[in-house]
Amino acid sequence: MRDMDPYTRERHKMVEEQLAARDIRDPRVLEAMRSVPRHLFVPDDLKARAYEDRPLPIGHDQTISQPYMVALMVQALQLTGAEKVLEIGTGSGYETAVLAELCAQVFSIERLEALAARAEAVLARLGYRNAQITTGDGTLGWEEHAPFDAVVITAASPQIPRPLLHQLRPEGIMVLPMGEEQLQSLVRLRKTSSGIQEDYLGECRFVKLRGMYGWEE
Ligand code: SAH
Repeated sequence: MRDMDPYTRERHKMVEEQLAARDIRDPRVLEAMRSVPRHLFVPDDLKARAYEDRPLPIGHDQTISQPYMVALMVQALQLTGAEKVLEIGTGSGYETAVLAELCAQVFSIERLEALAARAEAVLARLGYRNAQITTGDGTLGWEEHAPFDAVVITAASPQIPRPLLHQLRPEGIMVLPMGEEQLQSLVRLRKTSSGIQEDYLGECRFVKLRGMYGWEE
């Protein structure tokens, strides 16, 4: 630990104290959280707070999710490294980078052009070549690259966006915060031949998913 730069030290501490000490057990997820430099995904004036146990503002009324929430969502996807994943709500691009560490290809959709552009630049600077970002209404999915092995929505959803369910392969997993504006349940859905199997992962609070199958614009 002594030879590490301060950010790396903070990041390792974050993994031990906020993730491993709670219920994040997947070693690949812990390793990814140890390696992605979260401080590069937050605005410059918040860099020193990048490894705190909380979400932080990233401008445009949006937030970078709490590290624990990112780890919990990503762990729930049960990735092995071979998957093609669709993410809705790129935001800072931080979770996109974590996903890029854990699967073969990430496709991420962000509604706000400015955020998408910034996330794209940070991911390129870090050398992620298996993550693609586009601007648009993510509730419609990304048909061109479907079907996906896993889908993750990082904004509060009033319902399961139908197109995303269609673009998920059979036995695929979708993780999303679903419920009211102020409070949602984090749920994991598995698309099975006999219907949708649903697991409850906990309570959470995300910014709103807008768009055709989200909250009204
Ligand atoms: N995982 C991101 C979370 C960003 S917050 C991070 O840690 O940085 C959620 C993001 O979802 C916001 O950037 C918001 O603009 C975006 N969003 C909301 N509705 C959307 C939609 N229909 N399609 C794509 N992105 C959407």
